[in-house]
Amino acid sequence: MKPIDLRSDTVTRPTPAMREAMAHAEVGDDVYGEDPTVNRLEAAAAARVGKEAAVFVPSGTMANQIAIRLHTHHGEVVLASQGAHVLRYEGGAASALAGVQITTIGTAGCFDADAVRAAYVPASNVHLAPTTLLVAEDTHNGAGGRIFPLAMLQGAVGAAQDLGMRTHLDGARLFDAEVASGVPAARIAERFDTVAFCFSKGLGAPVGSVLCGDEATILRARRLRKMLGGGMRQAGVLAAAALYALEHHVDRLAEDHIRARRLAEGIEKLGLPVHPAPETNMVMFDVADTMGFLRATRARELWINPTGPGRFRAVTHLDVGSADVDEALARLEEALTELRA
Ligand SMILES: *Cc1c(COP(=O)(O)O)cnc(C)c1O
Repeated sequence: MKPIDLRSDTVTRPTPAMREAMAHAEVGDDVYGEDPTVNRLEAAAAARVGKEAAVFVPSGTMANQIAIRLHTHHGEVVLASQGAHVLRYEGGAASALAGVQITTIGTAGCFDADAVRAAYVPASNVHLAPTTLLVAEDTHNGAGGRIFPLAMLQGAVGAAQDLGMRTHLDGARLFDAEVASGVPAARIAERFDTVAFCFSKGLGAPVGSVLCGDEATILRARRLRKMLGGGMRQAGVLAAAALYALEHHVDRLAEDHIRARRLAEGIEKLGLPVHPAPETNMVMFDVADTMGFLRATRARELWINPTGPGRFRAVTHLDVGSADVDEALARLEEALTELRA
């Protein structure tokens, strides 16, 4: 039985055309700034999100953590969304590496200007830790691939900047937001000091993310990347895959979104509550018997991860075709029949 892997959009394998691009990549030592493919990728990525410069890093976590280090000092507070990736899924790095605390604001992955103002603490109060950075996440992983509404996002970022805070966009899946909302990534990222996005999620590259911002900020980011051990040598082999993904795999994200909606409809028909309704490539649904459901689906080579007790997340991606959605639903129905027997 062919496994259907809906655990994450990180499980994709490079396509033959992508491998071809990797095989023929021109390379050099990127720590010396001499890898032509990395240089091309960084220029293309920065332009794509409307920033001056970009630095290629091994992971989205490193991009976010470099950004947090860049924009804060030890003992300060970062404001982020409820369930933010920078808080929950980065191994405690913000406190361990940057020495900051994270306070979450808003609900369901979003927050507005009032929430930023209400949480703001100025450096002049010696009793309290000052809030110096705002991190927004779009699309929001923990909230099920939710798109941050543009007006709300711009209002919140504007409020943070008026208060003298720095701003970072965790856009791991920024192009899912672009494709689903029709708002260009550069517009979404416009007001932020820095923006990170991943090539290794829906875009389908094996490795890599970028951090983008102005020239001076990205120069500082390069030193932090070196400190963290992220200086890679003939990284053009990886950059070629990322460049290929940026050029060929953005528009097709719309297919993932269509498949996620179809999967959600099928799951609802099987009697499982789906919420929220998918806006991009994730389907969040409830099954009371977490372990039973895991066993019954794994036994049928259907891989879906729980995100908490009784709650599951299925993600569509490059390696999930239209027929795979039908097959996944058929296996789900069987698994549920067994569970309910
Ligand atoms: C995946 C992800 C990241 C980065 O994860 P890596 O696995 O380190 O590349 C950052 N933010 C969000 C919202 C993500 O989903």
